[in-house]
Amino acid sequence: MYDENNIFAKIIRGEIPCEKIYEDEEVLFFNDINPIAKIHVLGIPKTPSTDFSDFILKNDPEKIAEFYKKINMIVEKLEIRDSGYKIITNSGDNGGQEVPHFHVHILGGEKINS
Ligand code: AMP
Repeated sequence: MYDENNIFAKIIRGEIPCEKIYEDEEVLFFNDINPIAKIHVLGIPKTPSTDFSDFILKNDPEKIAEFYKKINMIVEKLEIRDSGYKIITNSGDNGGQEVPHFHVHILGGEKINS
């Protein structure tokens, strides 16, 4: 079940600040507070979903595609398309997910080994 008090839900509601990269009605992209690469941006859809599977099951293909198109827009905005990057989403205990609101990590700016 979705926890309305997870930290990303609080960021979406503006209760906790973040370093915004891009925001519109549907999505928010912001810098990770504990970056593991020179560029470490988190991307979240604003609608509640706990993880990747929940996001896919709850949304129609158009909405899912829109989110992934926006990830690519951020890749372009960060100017890491040519140098390369990694997109990761952690899910559940075995996936090492800490925050139970679906998000992607965009890592770049240097060689990503993890
Ligand atoms: P995950 O392990 O995939 O759930 O990743 C959660 C990520 O959220 C970690 O990389 C954290 O550093 C990051 N994080 C936690 N709290 C905040 C916050 N207040 N602002 C930005 N990033 C955060």
